[in-house]
Amino acid sequence: RGGAMAERGAASQPPPDMDTDECLREYRHLFSPDILAGQVAFITGGGSGIGFRIAEIFMRHGCRTVIASRNLQRVSEASKKLVAATGQQCLPLSVDVRQPQTIVAAVDEALKEFKKIDILVNNAAGNFLCPASALSFNAFKTVIDIDTIGTFNTSKVLFEKYFRDHGGVIVNITATLSYRGQALQVHAGSAKAAIDAMTRHLAVEWGPNKIRVNSLAPGPITGTEGFRRLGGRFAEESSHFDMIPLQRAGNKTEIAHSTLYLASCLSSYVTGTTLVVDGGSWLTSANNFPAMLGIASSSAK
Ligand code: NAP
Repeated sequence: RGGAMAERGAASQPPPDMDTDECLREYRHLFSPDILAGQVAFITGGGSGIGFRIAEIFMRHGCRTVIASRNLQRVSEASKKLVAATGQQCLPLSVDVRQPQTIVAAVDEALKEFKKIDILVNNAAGNFLCPASALSFNAFKTVIDIDTIGTFNTSKVLFEKYFRDHGGVIVNITATLSYRGQALQVHAGSAKAAIDAMTRHLAVEWGPNKIRVNSLAPGPITGTEGFRRLGGRFAEESSHFDMIPLQRAGNKTEIAHSTLYLASCLSSYVTGTTLVVDGGSWLTSANNFPAMLGIASSSAK
């Protein structure tokens, strides 16, 4: 046998992951382990789910991180796990991306500690399933506030405080929800579509400052709050995965690896685009409104 790479389908084999917000017990480097050596990343929502795994994978590649979200206790506990597993520094900070002054304070603190920030990952978001007819005016606005305006606020603060003069990389975590008008997701789909537009606008305006801006749109990702709430039951109860070209959900490490690609010099000429990381899911998955409504009402109980 000629090793793992000779096996059938090896290039779509998922790396090991775990469903909890714990660090991986074992990790095999696929990218060069020092690809982010000496760099600093600011990751919103880095205390849980996808953001936590992005922080871990970046740190395993030599990066120091700032993980920032509303719940300081959540990011502080996450930071301890990340430092223990990787030996890199991780600064936990409290921010609400809807409040620019909290971002300014966090970025000042991060710059005081690390003297630089090279990478911004806008990962913080809020979501839930709800039909448009039942969505309150305020619920729609809240999702736009956190996802879209929060991404703009954080990008603008980083631009003014550091990226304008030093260059940088921004990765916005979005979604494929709007591509086919996913049922029960008008709020998140609209918010994420606006971020993909923002990605292109900022890539154009900030390119001359040596700032690359890209979006990464995950499909269904196991071991996340989003998956548990939005699709976990649906996926378990039906043949949902059969619809996905790669026949499975993705895992957090796969999203972290694609984020690492977009944040690193491997993608040095890539800007203003959206990398879809979904196993081909949005092309083929059923947008089954009545079935989704069943989940929404049972998860509301
Ligand atoms: P998650 O664990 O719920 O992560 C969301 C994070 O955002 C939390 O750590 C939360 O921390 C933080 N956050 C929420 N509101 C905030 C605010 N106002 N200010 C600062 N931080 C805030 O969710 P996830 O599933 O890992 O999702 C991560 C990203 O991937 C999101 O952008 C999501 O839309 C996207 N995505 C996920 C999936 C999936 O299958 N999971 C699919 C497509 C896209 P605090 O509560 O401490 O603030």
